Amino acid sequence: MRPLAHRLTHFTESVIREMTRIAQEANAINLSQGFPDFDPPAELITAAKRALDEGYNQYAVTWGAPRFRQALAHKQKHWMGLDLDPDAHIVVTCGSTEAMLVALMTVCNPGDRVIVFSPFYENYAPDAILSGAVPIHVPLHPPDFAFDPRELRHAFEDGAKALVLCNPSNPTGKVFTREELLFIAELAQEFDAYVITDEVYEHIVYPPHVHTYMASLPGMFERTLSCSSLSKTYSITGWRLGYVIAAPEVIAGARKVHDFLTVGAPAPLQEAAAVALDFPLAYYEQLQQDYTRRKDLFLRYMDRAGLEYTTPQGAYYVLVDISPFGAEDDKEFCRWLAREIGVAAVPGSSFFHEPVRHLVRFHFAKREETLTAAGERLLHLREKIFSP
Ligand code: GLN
Repeated sequence: MRPLAHRLTHFTESVIREMTRIAQEANAINLSQGFPDFDPPAELITAAKRALDEGYNQYAVTWGAPRFRQALAHKQKHWMGLDLDPDAHIVVTCGSTEAMLVALMTVCNPGDRVIVFSPFYENYAPDAILSGAVPIHVPLHPPDFAFDPRELRHAFEDGAKALVLCNPSNPTGKVFTREELLFIAELAQEFDAYVITDEVYEHIVYPPHVHTYMASLPGMFERTLSCSSLSKTYSITGWRLGYVIAAPEVIAGARKVHDFLTVGAPAPLQEAAAVALDFPLAYYEQLQQDYTRRKDLFLRYMDRAGLEYTTPQGAYYVLVDISPFGAEDDKEFCRWLAREIGVAAVPGSSFFHEPVRHLVRFHFAKREETLTAAGERLLHLREKIFSP
């Protein structure tokens, strides 16, 4: 048989999804793949059933059901401070996963360079390969994961056509400050580059940190492709609803790519999710409080277990230092952790371009009893001897 496509050899299967399978085999509490173990708001389930009954069972408009786009434009006008035209500025996708791939395929020619901060959400490397782009990694330096302005400028000088920005960031929990974003924005304008944002955690930010939308900064709407999704904000990761917001010329291109990739996001679920997009502001306040409680609960266990970590400013992940356990290989450590302690995490190395092997990522988008159970198990970590 002739070999399959070369592009397959440049990336592996998702480590995050692999860890979920390992968690299931080991019967471990799964704090690896980031998704909630609680239900979305009841109104959404009712709305989804109603949408099926009311006949929304065929394709929606390929770039998104009108009601969904109207509700999204209205909601994001408040949050982004932008007057969005539902017919010109939005394409609805199958989650932010598709949105990011569409964005890269819309912007990049094969061989174009794209800046990706490291650590990064693992999808961006395959996204770059699938779109033909070449990632240039710029490190975010621990403990606060700041970038070095000179290193970033250098990457733009190297001819980058775009920069991928995950903010709030998975896996670091970093929320980029307005000053940092303004610096990136200035470089993007100076070097005529695009910014592709992944802002799926836009509503999960811990005060006093605040989320600033790149597209809302002066001169940036034209050159920003804002990708996000409803997965995390409304606890509906399985509904696969995301979107790209951008200038009309960019959206015209993105619609074409999206149309041929997936035709469209699920029609009945778009109808139902419009209900979520209309939620009052109190919903987002509650979401923030709920996640702050989950974060505090889990971090208290990390403190009690004597583990070191970088306190998340946003999103629902924490990177924990495993160097005291003497593990050379974080993948082996995570397999051992799932098997022997009964808690699954993601090996930090799957997020880093650099050879970083002393971190693991836990997520805390779980019910308090799940986090407590995981925390109690992790308290015993120090008593155990790691052996691969
Ligand atoms: N974004 C989530 C994470 O980082 C889920 C990833 C996925 O499997 N799509 O864990």
